[in-house]
Amino acid sequence: MNDGELTGQVRTHIADVPEPKCALHAHVVAPFFNLRRAALADGFDLAAQSSFRDFSRQLTIWNGKFSGEKPMVDASGQPIDVTALAPLQRIEAILLWSALPGASRHHWGTDVDLIDRRATPPAYRVQLTPEEYAPGGPFAPLAEWLEANAARFGFFRPFRGVLSGVRPEPWHFSFAPVADNARRRLTPAVLYKAITAAPLLGKEQVLEQLDALHARYVASIDWP
Ligand SMILES: [Zn+2]
Repeated sequence: MNDGELTGQVRTHIADVPEPKCALHAHVVAPFFNLRRAALADGFDLAAQSSFRDFSRQLTIWNGKFSGEKPMVDASGQPIDVTALAPLQRIEAILLWSALPGASRHHWGTDVDLIDRRATPPAYRVQLTPEEYAPGGPFAPLAEWLEANAARFGFFRPFRGVLSGVRPEPWHFSFAPVADNARRRLTPAVLYKAITAAPLLGKEQVLEQLDALHARYVASIDWP
């Protein structure tokens, strides 16, 4: 992957999959279908709620939160008014839930947020909350199946809440052979270049502490 692909600014590495609808790195399509086929055999209609996401989409999410236009909650789920926070605290509050533009693993097309389409009624709105994947939740059986089987197909969970600065995301899986290469190539310098050129709110503060943000949110991930 080149710098533009690593930071989601281009999509030359991405293939569009019509069914189940998603966008994946060209080398992740076959592994994803291998995983899906095995899941189907065990009764799960495995699909990606979210797959490739580009830089500009992540930038819209970031700026919406930084400006206070998008509602925000704290770690315990309580609504917060970000405009009352200093820029550094705002950045911390956003990073609890959303990646820095350029630093999302979803830019690579190697990472997917997985659901079981058979587990919920058609009108159900997936929220990707820990409760949905915990015992009693609609995706608990899928979470258990993935825990036991995903590794056989090269997929792992980078956000387990152990080493990573990202909160535990039981739905987020990554295809290790391609993603690990991307993680090593996405250096602070590559990220710096992408952010410098973007209309990112809080840019000055982000760039000042970019090495620390990179160490905490890109370099540190959880291994199986
Ligand atoms: Zn995700």
